[in-house]
Amino acid sequence: MGQKELEIGYNKILDGNKEWVEFVKNDSTGRFEQFAKGQSPEILWIGCADSRVPANEVTGRKPGEVFVHRNIANMCVHSDMSMLSVLDYAVNVLKVKHIIVAGHYGCGGVAASLSQKQFGIIDNWLCHIKDVYRLHAAEIDAISDSEEKTNRLVELNAKEQVFNLCTTSIVQNAWKNGQDLAVHGMVINIVTGELIDLDTTFTSNESLGKVFAFK
Ligand SMILES: [Zn+2]
Repeated sequence: MGQKELEIGYNKILDGNKEWVEFVKNDSTGRFEQFAKGQSPEILWIGCADSRVPANEVTGRKPGEVFVHRNIANMCVHSDMSMLSVLDYAVNVLKVKHIIVAGHYGCGGVAASLSQKQFGIIDNWLCHIKDVYRLHAAEIDAISDSEEKTNRLVELNAKEQVFNLCTTSIVQNAWKNGQDLAVHGMVINIVTGELIDLDTTFTSNESLGKVFAFK
């Protein structure tokens, strides 16, 4: 890509912003004036960094309504300070009511984790997904179609990340303090746009087991 193409691409961003500024100016809900005072979203969305799964569009939510954290394959890793900081702020300051961990079919990160190829530094991140594969190897190995295999691991991975989130001290303490907080696992069908509930919602630490549930 030459200098000219780079400039054209960059200008598109600025032109897009001009349209947005115009939209904001013509908004009659008063929403954007409120933004100067702060935010009070009810949802924390933890999704994949993939460009095809934008949190607000997928959920039909407007700016100000979703607090968002995205990384490769929507992982909730217990020692990831970036994720923990977002979670802590969302739960303890913003007091969100719903946390959605959203995977998506056709996830490149999940597909990569099923291969034995090296991709670079990301291989170490993918090991967290390989851990999920290891837990469900019998089920995944029984599927012969590679796309189906990836998509099933996408579902299982989203469920496991919900579990990881629920076992954090942040989420468990919120429940202990009587805060209303539901953690949901979902998967997006990127072709139809459908958000599929994986029926793995937690609203307390009761089913986390004796190793993970704090007293
Ligand atoms: Zn993805």
